Amino acid sequence: MEKHILVTNDDGVLSPGLLALAQEMRKLGKVTILAPDRNWSGGGHVKTLDRALRMRELRLEDGSQAFSSDGAPSDCVALATLGYIKEPIDLVVSGINMGANLGHDVTYSGTVTAAMEAAIAGLPGVAVSLEIPEGFVGQIDFQPAAHAAGIAVRNVLANGLSSETLLNVNVPFLKQEELKGFRITRQGLRVYHSRLDERVDPRGRPYYWIGGDAPTGVSESGTDVGALAEGFVSVTPLHLDLTYYRALTDLNTWGWQDQANGPEGSA
Ligand code: MN
Repeated sequence: MEKHILVTNDDGVLSPGLLALAQEMRKLGKVTILAPDRNWSGGGHVKTLDRALRMRELRLEDGSQAFSSDGAPSDCVALATLGYIKEPIDLVVSGINMGANLGHDVTYSGTVTAAMEAAIAGLPGVAVSLEIPEGFVGQIDFQPAAHAAGIAVRNVLANGLSSETLLNVNVPFLKQEELKGFRITRQGLRVYHSRLDERVDPRGRPYYWIGGDAPTGVSESGTDVGALAEGFVSVTPLHLDLTYYRALTDLNTWGWQDQANGPEGSA
């Protein structure tokens, strides 16, 4: 049976990265596009509950049908999997994001959280991001990242992913022939250089921007950051169970139960 792939992103439905991804996915199955109508980069994992979601149908540059919503990337996946798209979906792929999503980026990233929403819906999710060098201007070639996405999705369709699992794929900014291959990695360390800028509006009230320089990372071998620095496509399996298992034993020595039963805890 032909596979049905949902393509979404967080840069907005008109992003050239989404178009490149959708075209690559068409080689693997039937593609449905449902993505946000605007840029949600850094929007994180969202469930919109306090307002209606509006849908629009449009055509992309290559004439392909697409749907957009005014919700977040994770809302788009929820809309599709909860019934806006009538045909059952086999896999969700999100991207190609303009900019890497490494280390601690994953909970900020609309690209990655769309794939997390797929995992919540019980579907395999793949997030694909392309590293873009700081200050780069010009035409972005999405082909190497699209090709890598094709390999990742083909592998997931062939092998499946265990429940609550998604893949975070990051592609270095290199030509196809310069890419060294794939590395299966763990989450690395991002270093943020955020700075709060306080300014004053025309009415004399202060307002704030979270600014500062772009994040960097610790290029440790075996990590997502390290793989990109070495010219490899990074594939990190992520799990929705964020429990830090090593802390369970230690926390259990803190005497919680004694405190609950003791004089301070009793009513
Ligand atoms: Mn983005």
